[in-house]
Amino acid sequence: MKLLFSRSAYFVYFIVVIFLIGGFFLINGSMKSRNENNNLVCRDCNVILISVDTLRADHVGAYGYPRNTTPNLDNFAKNAIIFTNVFSQTSWTLPSHATIFTSLYPAQHKVLNEYNETVYDSLNASTVTLAKVMRDSGYKTAAFVGDIYVGPKFGFGNGFENYFSYDSNVQIESSMHDAYGYSEYIETGGTFNRTLSQGIKWIDENRNEKFFVFLHGYDVHAPYLRKDISDTSFYSNYSGPLKDVLFTYRELNSIQKVDDHYEIRVDANFSGNTGKKTVKFNDSDLGYIISRYDAGVFSADTALGNLFSYLKSKNLLEKTIVVVVSDHGENLFEKGLWSHRNVYDSVLQVVMMIHIPNRSPAAVSSMAGLIDVMPTILDLVNVSIPSEANLAGKNLVPAIANGKEVNNFVFADSNFLAKALVVRSDTYKLIFRPANNTFELYNWRTDPHETLNIYGRNATRDEELKFALFSFINETNTNAIQKLMSQSYVGEVQE
Ligand SMILES: [Zn+2]
Repeated sequence: MKLLFSRSAYFVYFIVVIFLIGGFFLINGSMKSRNENNNLVCRDCNVILISVDTLRADHVGAYGYPRNTTPNLDNFAKNAIIFTNVFSQTSWTLPSHATIFTSLYPAQHKVLNEYNETVYDSLNASTVTLAKVMRDSGYKTAAFVGDIYVGPKFGFGNGFENYFSYDSNVQIESSMHDAYGYSEYIETGGTFNRTLSQGIKWIDENRNEKFFVFLHGYDVHAPYLRKDISDTSFYSNYSGPLKDVLFTYRELNSIQKVDDHYEIRVDANFSGNTGKKTVKFNDSDLGYIISRYDAGVFSADTALGNLFSYLKSKNLLEKTIVVVVSDHGENLFEKGLWSHRNVYDSVLQVVMMIHIPNRSPAAVSSMAGLIDVMPTILDLVNVSIPSEANLAGKNLVPAIANGKEVNNFVFADSNFLAKALVVRSDTYKLIFRPANNTFELYNWRTDPHETLNIYGRNATRDEELKFALFSFINETNTNAIQKLMSQSYVGEVQE
């Protein structure tokens, strides 16, 4: 009964806080800094927005990765603004891209949001999107994407005059069939090789007009198909038990430590059950899985190198803003986790690099989110935000201009299995799991791998972050969170 009382009291506290702060507005919709930095405005510049799906920031050379995964992005970064502390607002492709294109949190754009009463499966047609604003401002618009979760089926076509979605399936190479019986397995999604070949063609045909192009590639994403690259440090000569395994998320999530070795269930696919066969492997094989991930990074980078060469050859970089982001990262065995179904920073910390013509390169350490992409791009090209839009992200131009901190807090909301919410201040990150009412707290600046949970060590600090998070919840999805929490209490009573 003691536990029940204490939990009930906590629930009351939660409700009181929610009502006390009813009108408190934490999410940043203002564009007050607009036009204060006129020297950064690139009026009539083209805009190319590139999303490298599943790319962890710390596996990019420009972000400090020692392996040579990204020579072309590293070169690009030498003439760009590189944001070193950028976080995704959720953990997977569909809601994350919806956030990039709307500057709304997942609970606001409501794409596959399980916390709400209604589960939406695509962006509402009336939602103001970056593409729509650009098109209505006179830009020619086109998108070339490698995954259905970024395609017109989920509302992303809105505002694009041309949309090429490479969601067709490709049979895998026969050696994998033979080794592990992947008779049914098909690769979903398109690599940058596919999307860029069409994208560059379109840019070339339209390069004398003002354009906005979105390019997306799936090279880095599971099942880590790419492995044949010249750099032997990527294990291209590996011959161990995992050599031909396709690392689908089901297979990755099946990895278990058993005594002194690991086991993975292979021959899974996206529509079937977890794999049929067990393959045993050792610690020494873990690096091969990471190498397969890195080979995907290298593949994306190689294709992007072709794009950058093309843009340079046509002098387009002189009048084009190029924004490179990733939608989320990937767990590579941190905390024993694989894939991207959680809110740890191997998943949430992402890439953001912005090439602005005639702007000196710089590293910006101000905290930022993917939710800031839309207002930042619009400000850089001096395009007004429509009055009906209520963007939740911040304009990062002041951060570029003079290193200002523009975000007091950045939030994340994983509605995909993890069911966790995150608030991040300039130093700390609080994770809240409503269903079981637990918290984790990390100093993300000094403990980026989140090894030490410091929740409960400083009550004032805990309460400040909770206040910020509950204010955010109140503003976005109060009812649903309350419902989740009350369900967990009902569970207590029934026990
Ligand atoms: Zn993704």
